[in-house]
Amino acid sequence: MYKVIYKEIKKFDTIVIARHIGVDPDAMASQIALRDSIKLTFPNKRVLAVGTGSNKFKYMGNLDKLEDFDNALLIITDTPDKKRVDIPTLEGFKKMIKIDHHPFVEKFCDIELIDDKVSSACEIIMDLIKNTKLECDINIAKNLFVGLVSDSNRFLFDNCRPKTFDLVSYYLDKYQFKLSDVYENVYIRPLKEVRLEGYMATNMKITEHGVGYIKITDDIINKYKVDSASSGNLVNNFNFIEEILVWATITEDVKNEIIRISIRSRGPIINDVAEKFNGGGHPTASGARVENFEVAMDLIDALDKRVEEYLNENKI
Ligand code: AMP
Repeated sequence: MYKVIYKEIKKFDTIVIARHIGVDPDAMASQIALRDSIKLTFPNKRVLAVGTGSNKFKYMGNLDKLEDFDNALLIITDTPDKKRVDIPTLEGFKKMIKIDHHPFVEKFCDIELIDDKVSSACEIIMDLIKNTKLECDINIAKNLFVGLVSDSNRFLFDNCRPKTFDLVSYYLDKYQFKLSDVYENVYIRPLKEVRLEGYMATNMKITEHGVGYIKITDDIINKYKVDSASSGNLVNNFNFIEEILVWATITEDVKNEIIRISIRSRGPIINDVAEKFNGGGHPTASGARVENFEVAMDLIDALDKRVEEYLNENKI
């Protein structure tokens, strides 16, 4: 499959690379690293990484404007379904390739490279570059490492397999980047976010069977001078709390008139529950968008039922 993708990349003069809405480090790093690798290998090609920007991830590199894409190849990283591709239109591309590590949702590209056993989209790009004539340099390697480290929550999840560590070892050895430089970019945050985390820890509620949830209203967002993405970005920091197996942040997004929900689990499968609430994601790391707090609480109830089933099945 890598050779097939490389052949397509070689064929096209214009290549557009997109990823999912609500950008996260793996989505952003996978598209920017792939763009930079293709440009380094084929300096005469026009390669555009497109989508909504984020100041937080500026250190990875700039994005491009989507223009003149007649006869172009579109590569979509880290996105399982059409509706979550961060691009104004999927029409007009000559060919489309998907490179993803989410569980399969739908086929909408000509070529689809999907492996949901892999830690991150960046891990797939690492393997693609290593196994083809695509070039790499220290900045590309750093970005790929950032995406992998972020999506695996610093090698915490079971989808970090021996091959993951082999790839990381290969890139570290070959490009000799300094880990402290990379981690500084990934983990530095303003004090107001730490204070918000304090609020979240203090105000987390727990359901009967152990679903922790934190409601963040627009008032709280304004009080802590953060934005509606901040609380969701902190969801991984609530791992390993003895009393809860599943936890969620529920955040009011006034601008988009929706409630954003980020869900994580230390066991029960949650993505099928999220799918019933206009969401989805990985088996133990999912998200959803719902219309109001009432529907959000219906989701919490459904998660509570899922945890109850899990406890019964596993005789816990
Ligand atoms: P987040 O909690 O936003 O970091 O998202 C965790 C995972 O769930 C990521 O793989 C997202 O792509 C996915 N996800 C988040 N929100 C949604 C949604 N509304 N629909 C489908 N997948 C989502």
